Amino acid sequence: MAKIRGAVVVNTQRCKGCNLCVVACPTKTLELHPNEVNDKGYHYSYMKEPENCIGCTSCAMVCPDGCITVYKVKL
Ligand code: SF4
Ligand code: SF4
Repeated sequence: MAKIRGAVVVNTQRCKGCNLCVVACPTKTLELHPNEVNDKGYHYSYMKEPENCIGCTSCAMVCPDGCITVYKVKL
């Protein structure tokens, strides 16, 4: 059986850095970017540990602004 991993794409310009997705992730994949900000000045969410993502979509479900799209990747 093929292994499945997740890949998360964040709409960085829409992200308001609320941290909900970071807390919701069971595998500690996400983090608010420590240095980079978007045009509104928010530290946006990014995949700090991409290999951890299992594609569970918890992050996408909690994001109040629908900034996250989760893809399933076959390994
Ligand atoms: S899909 Fe699941 S494992 Fe992947 S970043 Fe989102 S909450 Fe974490
Ligand atoms: S939940 Fe959405 S708005 Fe909040 S930090 Fe994550 S991606 Fe950004």
